[in-house]
Amino acid sequence: MKGFLPLLFAISLPLCAADRPNILLIFTDDHCEQALSAYDPARITTPHMDRIAKEGMRFNRCYVTNSICGPSRAVILTGKYSHLNGFVRNGNTFDGSQQTFPKLLQKVGYTTAMLGKWHLRSTPTGFDHYEVLIGQGPYYNPTMKYRQKDGTPAQHKHTGYTTDIIVDLTLDWLKKTRDKSKPFMLMTQHKAPHRNWQPGPKYLNWLDGKTIPEPETLWDDYKGRTSAASGQTMTIRKHLNANDLKLGPPRGLNPEQAAKWNAAYGPRNEAFRKAEPDMSEKEIIQWKYQRYVKDYLRCVKSVDDGIGRILDYLEESGLAKNTIVIYSSDQGWYLGEHGWFDKRWMYEESLKTPLLVRWPGVAKAGSVNNDIVSNLDFAETFLDAAGAGVPEDMQGRSLVPVLKGETPDDWRKSFYYHYYEYPGAHSVARHFGVTTGEHKLIHFYHKDEWELFDLKKDPEELKSVYGDSSYSDIEANLKKELKRLRTNYKLPEPEEPSGPRRPRKDNRNRKSKPAAG
Ligand code: CA
Repeated sequence: MKGFLPLLFAISLPLCAADRPNILLIFTDDHCEQALSAYDPARITTPHMDRIAKEGMRFNRCYVTNSICGPSRAVILTGKYSHLNGFVRNGNTFDGSQQTFPKLLQKVGYTTAMLGKWHLRSTPTGFDHYEVLIGQGPYYNPTMKYRQKDGTPAQHKHTGYTTDIIVDLTLDWLKKTRDKSKPFMLMTQHKAPHRNWQPGPKYLNWLDGKTIPEPETLWDDYKGRTSAASGQTMTIRKHLNANDLKLGPPRGLNPEQAAKWNAAYGPRNEAFRKAEPDMSEKEIIQWKYQRYVKDYLRCVKSVDDGIGRILDYLEESGLAKNTIVIYSSDQGWYLGEHGWFDKRWMYEESLKTPLLVRWPGVAKAGSVNNDIVSNLDFAETFLDAAGAGVPEDMQGRSLVPVLKGETPDDWRKSFYYHYYEYPGAHSVARHFGVTTGEHKLIHFYHKDEWELFDLKKDPEELKSVYGDSSYSDIEANLKKELKRLRTNYKLPEPEEPSGPRRPRKDNRNRKSKPAAG
């Protein structure tokens, strides 16, 4: 018996919680770098997000594979592009029977939880505990679906501001519910700052009297690009509705919440209605921009406060030193750039997403990385960090060496992107493309229109140089690279089995079958 003890100890040692890091992914919906002061301090200060950057690594080029909410989440869970994980557009239902990184972490002894916005329709799988919003979920008083001890789902209605509730659930799980004999992987996923940007009670009046700077491209006329850029329906000028602009009564608030809301918006709306008849079209757009951006920033501020509460608890509890904290969003966003709100495009603001990682003892404090990384890499990174095997069929790459400051020589130099949701909200044409970070080639394949951008000379992507003879070598090389990546990532040929072969002048009214998946 005596002889067995050291052996048993040796076998059980790799499974001890202390050996492997906890993983905490704090995730938002539609949060762009322009509203995170570690990236851009022009509009907001986010001290708690910035703290993750200061104590860890900030990634400047984290690209998403498909800039839309549900698909991004499916890519993160599976480490696979949309056409392979089957969730190509919002409205699909995630096949929860497939391989995901939380399931693989469970197999190697992690306890796992998903709290907040799930947005994949199917019941979450791979989690010992979940409590999730139903669909998009509201900003106030959400009904949430949770996993009961017997594994079956039940629902519970909360009272309060959703961002704060998700943080409460996070702290509750960390403090009380989780199995403390195991390392944990927790995904805390906010609804904020998704449309329609309803601020919490604490920030209803924050930024009153301030003017948020307008982006230079707010007045973009879409010349110099294909018909895709002018055919969208996501402009601040025309496509924000009364609900977005808080010009109607608030939805889903109880009388006490509504009273505070009306005290904040009532006088502002009254002032606007009085002034509106004498305002020029430009002044009305500027008013809409301020209303929209301030509400968005107010939502971000509550997320940041919540991150502060979580980081404080990690510190107090002693968990901080062995917990990887990742902050990211499902994609970037237009905060008025090109005159837009929303996402979807392969243009920089929505292609990029924030990525901040604090990993004590591994990622150097205050480090900045400019490699091309992606949400495609998250699954492999988490598995690698946990010491679990990484399946061959995942398509990203572990960021662990990058976090150590040792980016491999053969790290990716180009990146493949693919957006499918057309027809769909905001009428953004389907497109795929490749970027090297210096040049970007985009193919709007149902239109058979191409764009090529020189990102150094034209960082705002206002003038496509596709077809310009001085770029013919670059164009040819990018086309070759696009083909190589499409083969490498197992994209079906032609572009989509159901897509039209011939370009059409106007496909806005054409019904097309769902994309390949
Ligand atoms: Ca989103």
